[in-house]
Amino acid sequence: MPSASATNSSNSWQRRTQPSSFLGLPAKPLRRATSPKQLTIRRRSCRVIQQRDFRSGELEKEVDAIVLSPSQIKMKCPICAGSTFYDFRGRLNSRCSTCHSVERTRVAKLFIDKIVKLKPGARILHFAPEPGLSKFFQSLSLSAYEPCDLDPERYDIGMPIRKFDLCSDLGSLKESHYDLIVHNHVLEHLPCNYAVVLQKLQQAVKPGGYQLFSIPMQVGGYYREDLDRKLSSKERAEKFKQFDHFRMFGSLDFDRTVGMVLGIDKDYDLRDYFSENDLLAANIPKRWWRLCGASVFPVKRI
Ligand SMILES: [Zn+2]
Repeated sequence: MPSASATNSSNSWQRRTQPSSFLGLPAKPLRRATSPKQLTIRRRSCRVIQQRDFRSGELEKEVDAIVLSPSQIKMKCPICAGSTFYDFRGRLNSRCSTCHSVERTRVAKLFIDKIVKLKPGARILHFAPEPGLSKFFQSLSLSAYEPCDLDPERYDIGMPIRKFDLCSDLGSLKESHYDLIVHNHVLEHLPCNYAVVLQKLQQAVKPGGYQLFSIPMQVGGYYREDLDRKLSSKERAEKFKQFDHFRMFGSLDFDRTVGMVLGIDKDYDLRDYFSENDLLAANIPKRWWRLCGASVFPVKRI
């Protein structure tokens, strides 16, 4: 992680209406909506739906798939294809033995494969570059891949990392330049206005490209922040779970914080995008499927 300061198989998933901004999360395909009646009800709820999603039959297949128990599913890391995992921070079998991915990085890769769909040569800006994801990005577009962090020395990914302070260097980013910008668990480290950072990063994404990110989140809690530089490391750890954190996001007001900035629905559910079997096979246990610290948000630049 950095130091301080530092959407689906078709376009039809993308939100068609953006009331007040150019930002957008790919609209969800409907889960369990298999009849015209259900479709009508959903339309009344103002969600924009493309009917061909249903005609394709793809979603129904997911809905109707027999859900196997976790013990019946052969787990495979979607980043490195590794099949063994080890316990990490009290979470049973959470970390890949090969690439050291955790739940959020595996979810990120699932979204990249299914929604972002990077092409060779894609321009990618990757903050706090996780080794597993970085290896994948390097294999895809070495010349256009830009890993960066406030403290590059902390990483060993086999290539130089650009020093970048998200609180002061955003002006150096070209607008509409990247196919993908990735930052997982970075915003909590920034001693500045995270909403401005999200907006500036989104402006650096090409139309049709994605900003994909995750944040720590207290499930059942509200957003909290303290930018006071006099707060000690111990006090920060007590307030925000880590010595260098400046904030903690909460699921209860997500729609008034990050969700409000980028137009993300707080009714987040990975099953809107992936089958239960696929999630279990990627070693994403059920408790991570709803809004939580492992949630990953792919936000399309409209
Ligand atoms: Zn792995």
